[in-house]
Amino acid sequence: MTLKVPYLDFTGMHHPIKEELRSAMNEVLDRNWFILGEKVEHFETSFARYCGVKYGIGVNSGLDAIILALQSLRIGPGDEVLVASNAYIACWNAIFQTGATIVPVEPDPLTHNINTSQLSNYINEKTKAILAVHLFGQICDMEAIHEIAKVNNLWVIEDNAQAQGASLRGRKSGSWGHINATSFYPGKNLGALGDAGIITTNNDQWAVFSRSMRNYGSQQKYRNDHIGINSRLDEIQAAVLEVKLKYLDKWNLERIQIAKWYDERLKEMEQLTLPLMIENGRHVYHIYCVQTNHRDELQQHLHNQGIGSLIHYPIPPHLQKAYAHLNYKVGDFPIAEKLAKTSLSLPIYPGLAEEQVDYIAKSIREYFDPS
Ligand SMILES: *Cc1c(COP(=O)(O)O)cnc(C)c1O
Repeated sequence: MTLKVPYLDFTGMHHPIKEELRSAMNEVLDRNWFILGEKVEHFETSFARYCGVKYGIGVNSGLDAIILALQSLRIGPGDEVLVASNAYIACWNAIFQTGATIVPVEPDPLTHNINTSQLSNYINEKTKAILAVHLFGQICDMEAIHEIAKVNNLWVIEDNAQAQGASLRGRKSGSWGHINATSFYPGKNLGALGDAGIITTNNDQWAVFSRSMRNYGSQQKYRNDHIGINSRLDEIQAAVLEVKLKYLDKWNLERIQIAKWYDERLKEMEQLTLPLMIENGRHVYHIYCVQTNHRDELQQHLHNQGIGSLIHYPIPPHLQKAYAHLNYKVGDFPIAEKLAKTSLSLPIYPGLAEEQVDYIAKSIREYFDPS
């Protein structure tokens, strides 16, 4: 029997709260105010409080949030920013957009996050910041990162796009860096029904700057203090996010439960490497990523069984055509390259049932042990 299990399904999240979402959207329609209004302000406050910081600055996307966070710190041409070699392309693009130099550092192959023991090797007088990307729902080792940052006088920026609700020693992601960026792309743990993002910080000056920059560098209509961009958050997305934020903890608990089901069923399999959790961390499993040397064949087998899966990510940024001008070659970042060849992300989302995980685990076992 084949059961259909898509890689991602929003039904489990959205169906039970559909009326609540509809009425939030209707309210915006009735109020006739669509961009940067009461709903945006309200959500900015709610999300900042959720992370445990003073300010939230709503923007158009996660990419813009990282760019404006870096620009708030006055990072630009001549500066170097450390980032994981296996990070999502947006992280690299954001650094590039500021004019700063991307300095890739290999990840720990088991956590997928930047290898903090390597950071010192890449720090020189031009180094200005570490962009800590919390990949797959697991927070980076922020204590180690801060220690290194402090000694070397560097800024720390979190990319919290995949880890809303994660924490380290009880302190939430989005509150560890000097200034932080989040995406609310629909598929994230907290997702809008379109594009959205936010910057979080405790710093008054950067909050004012990024708030101005997202709206043409203007704090007062038709008075422009900076050459800003248009990265405004709209009222409908903010209203939707306000509703969904109430359920984020519950949804993350479901993801953690699903990860546990996978762990229990797959842990005996020598051919698979399962996600590793760091000590004192709360992993919120945006992605459940396994590693195997037979990745492509396993993915095809799962596909034949009606099971969706994805690869995060098939080509590391340094080998993308977009970065050909940096003249990197195959072999320059072997860990990132290996992860790109061996990683496979299995379905994980609120509403995914234990029988579905059973079926996926059974299909994986069948592939490796067809007898
Ligand atoms: C999704 C994502 C982004 C980009 O967010 P957008 O809203 O798509 O611009 C940045 N970094 C990471 C790690 C992401 O997962």
